[in-house]
Amino acid sequence: ENTANQIAAGEVVERPASVVKELVENSIDAGSSNISIEINNGGISMIKVVDNGSGIDEDDVEIAFERHSTSKIRKADDLESIYTLGFRGEALASIASVSLVELTTRVKEKPYGKYIKIQGGLVKEVRQTGCPVGTTFIVRDLFYNTPARFKFLKKDTTEAGYVSDIVNRIALGNPHISIKLVNNRNCVIHTPGNNDLLSTIFSLYGKETAKEVLEVRYKDEKVEIFGYAGKPEIARTTRNYQSIYINGRYIRNKTIFSAIDEAYKTYLMKNKFAFVVLQIKINPIFVDVNVHPTKMEVRFSDEQTIFRAVYHAINNALLSKSL
Ligand code: ADP
Ligand code: MG
Repeated sequence: ENTANQIAAGEVVERPASVVKELVENSIDAGSSNISIEINNGGISMIKVVDNGSGIDEDDVEIAFERHSTSKIRKADDLESIYTLGFRGEALASIASVSLVELTTRVKEKPYGKYIKIQGGLVKEVRQTGCPVGTTFIVRDLFYNTPARFKFLKKDTTEAGYVSDIVNRIALGNPHISIKLVNNRNCVIHTPGNNDLLSTIFSLYGKETAKEVLEVRYKDEKVEIFGYAGKPEIARTTRNYQSIYINGRYIRNKTIFSAIDEAYKTYLMKNKFAFVVLQIKINPIFVDVNVHPTKMEVRFSDEQTIFRAVYHAINNALLSKSL
């Protein structure tokens, strides 16, 4: 059973950043307004995620670690399928099979919570405990029992960089949640959680970037876009500063990238990429949901519509300021 979980872990858990992603997405699904992440040694020795979400009822704690156990109902034809973040109930079982996990959680209906300790997929300790409503996960010694996978981890600082990238991405996509990342006791990310994208951009990229962005607002029959487009002055040499969300989910997509490039064509040299953050709302029936949940690629049934929407959204923003 743990072997099956370890194999599944190969798909879901590649490195500390993927553990952080799964845990934080669970915290978001649980309705948290505050999520705090702490890592040591790039997350290899310790990852801690604290949220103020719904918590897990004491009777469901052990079940949550079983493979294919999910409290989130998903149907293939569910119109909202693109909104759900979970990975078919595999994440917790996978993570617990390759590390030492401690979970403390409480729901608001109960005056006490539950603590559980699992090592390599085996329950070592379970007891009731006093704790706040919400959930705290501590994951230690990732891949301690799978040396082949441990070997593929990079330097602590590199792994910490991957974690920081993931948290940055999640934070930008969830301006209504205050998200904090502490790496080796240094606070590297702390967003306000006030549901204001500009102040979230400010907290993640600093004043110099935040004061050089233009608001993007666009709406047609099929697509709605909100976000910020950087002035040409703050263009970068990589696409890493182009953050695109479809219905709240981070994606990368060639059609959208070329629409952005096209809109900036007269303002930027070929080797420069604009800073953009775009929240795109589109009816999920136009988005190909047959894509692997951990992949960031999506396809659109109507590429022209999405191209035009993104192009015009950005073009309007650039023209409005007559740069
Ligand atoms: P999935 O997210 O696909 O449902 P997971 O293995 O990630 O599967 O989580 C299993 C279950 O554990 C979730 O469905 C949820 O009920 C519960 N859970 C996990 N993390 C949290 C959390 N931070 N707060 C509340 N419930 C959680
Ligand atoms: Mg999940």
